[in-house]
Amino acid sequence: MKRVFNFSAGPATLPQEVLQQVQSELLDWHGSGMSVMEMSHRDKEFMSIAQEAEKDLRELMGIPANYKVLFMQGGATAQFGIVPQNLARGKTGADYVLTGDWGKKAAKEAGKFLKANTAASSEGDKFTSIPDPATWKLDPNAAYLHITTNETIHGVQFKSMPDSRGVPLVADMSSDFASRPIDVSKFGVIYAGAQKNIGPAGLTVVIVRDDLIGQTLPGTFSIHDYKTVAENESMLNTPPCFAWYVCGLVFKWIKTNGGLAGVGARNERKAKLLYDYIDSQSFYKNPVKKENRSLMNVPFTLPNAELDADFLKGAKAASLLGLKGHRSVGGMRASIYNAMSEEGVTALVDYMKEFARTKG
Ligand code: PMP
Repeated sequence: MKRVFNFSAGPATLPQEVLQQVQSELLDWHGSGMSVMEMSHRDKEFMSIAQEAEKDLRELMGIPANYKVLFMQGGATAQFGIVPQNLARGKTGADYVLTGDWGKKAAKEAGKFLKANTAASSEGDKFTSIPDPATWKLDPNAAYLHITTNETIHGVQFKSMPDSRGVPLVADMSSDFASRPIDVSKFGVIYAGAQKNIGPAGLTVVIVRDDLIGQTLPGTFSIHDYKTVAENESMLNTPPCFAWYVCGLVFKWIKTNGGLAGVGARNERKAKLLYDYIDSQSFYKNPVKKENRSLMNVPFTLPNAELDADFLKGAKAASLLGLKGHRSVGGMRASIYNAMSEEGVTALVDYMKEFARTKG
């Protein structure tokens, strides 16, 4: 069997132990005589899988009792519209802090339901920083304040969470969900697609505070209404059962690897390896302001774009895949989510050194 180091931005690498467990349980889950893929979502076997995943996630993140955990579909992209539909609550506008393309997309969708105000934006510096919160133009009557905790394309991440001055703080955590300890009680809503840090594509985790539920805009589909989804334990219709099951296994894997503090410390070490190397030489460059650099996605450029194809070809030969940067910024991007090993990052740095030595 061959396993490469997969630096893809998502879907992304999963822990090998989890994949092996999935493999061993694939045909006969716990003596049920069937695969999780084949089970009715209403049977007690799948109900136990679903409930255990929620319990483990609540424990890992310390989710307070006054928050619902919802397992939805449609990705983070669906939440771009679902959030304003649920949270407008009679207000006319919401504030958006734009630190990358995903935040821009979220604001654009929200604009279909309310006025999406740009409270701050770093587009002027090509999204290589986070605007100083002291300069944000926050509306005290906003329905909520939306941030993207980690901008996957630009490699920009909030290190501490901003003070939303009394309005609910909403976070798209798609690319740094469950990658470090956070204080859930600071947020009104947290949402994340699973396919980066916690599992396969198809599942979207939403954590929402109880008082924000139950006031959707008229015309909102039941399947997009946090209230009906919560009342039906995320099974108003058939959920993405298999993805839910795999996420549950990843939650257990995080628990056995030191919880969020453990994976968070490991994520810090991995990112440090890569940034320390990039900062120690002049062949590769990362444009992001140091204090805003992402621990999850590390974009870097070579001295000229003509070298990119060569770099990727050599990387592939060294079993380092998924390094091509997003088309909007070019260059390279190494995504080093929870399941990327320190060994993988070390192999990448070794390859980068060798490539720079021969081409520099
Ligand atoms: N937000 C962020 C920060 C993302 O990285 C992504 C996916 N790359 C999305 C939203 C969109 O997620 P999805 O594909 O699950 O809709």
